[in-house]
Amino acid sequence: MVHNQSHQAAANKYGNLAFETMQKHDVEPTPVHYELFYNYVSGENPSLVATINSRLETHASLTDAFLSETFNEHFQSDDELTNAAASTGAQLDTQMDKILEALETNVGHASRFSDALRGVSENLSDTTSQSDLALIVKTVVSATEQMESRSRELETQLQESKSEVSDLRSNLDAVRLEARTDALTGLANRKAFDDGLLEAVQDSVEQNTPLCLVMSDIDHFKAFNDSWGHQTGDQVLKLVAGSIRSCIKGRDTSARYGGEEFAIILPHTELDDATMIANQVRETIHSRELVKKSTGENLGRVTMSFGIASFRPGEPISELIERADECLYAAKHGGRNQVISELNSAEILTKSA
Ligand code: GH3
Ligand code: MG
Ligand code: MG
Repeated sequence: MVHNQSHQAAANKYGNLAFETMQKHDVEPTPVHYELFYNYVSGENPSLVATINSRLETHASLTDAFLSETFNEHFQSDDELTNAAASTGAQLDTQMDKILEALETNVGHASRFSDALRGVSENLSDTTSQSDLALIVKTVVSATEQMESRSRELETQLQESKSEVSDLRSNLDAVRLEARTDALTGLANRKAFDDGLLEAVQDSVEQNTPLCLVMSDIDHFKAFNDSWGHQTGDQVLKLVAGSIRSCIKGRDTSARYGGEEFAIILPHTELDDATMIANQVRETIHSRELVKKSTGENLGRVTMSFGIASFRPGEPISELIERADECLYAAKHGGRNQVISELNSAEILTKSA
C-alpha cells in the first residue's frame, strides 16, 4: 500500500513536470508528446534524455517532426508490439498444438501437462510486453524440454516393457512347446497326440476328408534293452523318431504314444497311402545297421510293427485307436516287421486263427 502511494506520487510529480516542460518549450500537449516528455523528465530512458538535451543545447525548437522522429526512434509503437506479440503467439500456438498433439498421441500421462501449456497459450493473446512474451516463451521451452525428456523416459520404459513382454511371450511359447514335446525324441508327446487326433477327427468330419491313424511298436525291444542296455535302447528310440519324421509331411503328426510305441496321424490320407508311408518308415528303420558308437560293436537291426485304421465318421476316437491297435496286434502276431491295415487285417487274423 505504502509502495503504491509513493508510486502514485512519483507519477503525479513526473506528470506535472512533463506538462510544465512541454509548455516551456511550446510543445503541443498530445498523448505522444506527453509520453515522450514523461519519459524525458523521469529520466527513465537515458538515450531519450540525451537526444532532447542535445537538441535544446543548439537552441533549435522542438518541432512536431523532431518529436515524432524521436518518439519513433525510442519507442516501438503499440501497434508493432501488438502485431509482433500476436504473430509470435500464433506461431507458438501452432507449435504447441503440434507438440500437444504429439504428446497426447504418444503419452497419455501428458494430459495434465497439456492443460498447463494450453493456459500459457491462452495468455499470449493478452500479452503486450516483450519481456512477458520472452518469459512465456522461456517457460514453454523449458516445460516442453521437461516433457520431452519425460516422454523419452516413458518411451524407454515402454520399449523395455515391450521387450520384456516379448521375452516373456517367447519363454511362454517355449514352455508351451516343451509341455507338448517328448524330451527324448522331440516328437509330440501323449498330450499333444490326444489334442492333435481330436483336431484331425474334427477336420475330417467338417471337411469330409479321409483320416488314418498308424500305431507302431518296436519288435522285441525288451530283449534289445537286456542285451545292450537301456541307454543304448534310448538311442534306438531316437533313431526310430528320426526315421518316422523323415517319412511324413507338414500336416502329419508323429508322436511318442508310450515307452516304445509311436503313433502317426495322417490327415487327408486313405488306407493304401497310409500303408505305403508306414512301410517306408518300417524299411527305413530296418535298413539301418546299428553300431554302438563308444565300442564300435555291431548291434544288428531293429524292426517295427505297424497297425493302421481309418476314421469312420461318427465313431468315438477310442474306437479308432482300438482298431489301429488290433491291426498292430495282428502285425505282431503275423511275424512282426510288417504293416497291417484294416484292408488286410481280416485276412491275416483269419490265417493266424
Ligand atoms: P514286442 O515285439 O512284442 O513288442 O516285444 P517287446 O519286447 O518290444 O515288448 P514289451 O512290451 O514286452 O517290452 C517293451 C519294452 O520296451 C520294455 C522296456 O524295456 C522298453 N522300453 C519302454 N520304454 C523305454 C524307454 O524309454 N527306453 C528304453 N531304452 N526302453 C524302453
Ligand atoms: Mg510295447
Ligand atoms: Mg515292443
